[in-house]
Amino acid sequence: MSQDETPIVNCPDCGKSVIWNENSPFRPFCSKRCQLIDLGEWAAEEKVIQGSQLYSNHDGWSEEPDRN
Ligand SMILES: [Zn+2]
Repeated sequence: MSQDETPIVNCPDCGKSVIWNENSPFRPFCSKRCQLIDLGEWAAEEKVIQGSQLYSNHDGWSEEPDRN
């Protein structure tokens, strides 16, 4: 009797092999990154990038961990 074979799928985003078990929480994606891409969350991250451009325009980085 063979143990039940673990299915292997290909990540829909990058095509990498993903073992379908609990070690792959993002299956069928290989990683959270690929999952996010597929969910369209990249669009949300673009907003963040645009926002930080506004900040760098404005007098730079006052978020130093230096402050007490
Ligand atoms: Zn992937």
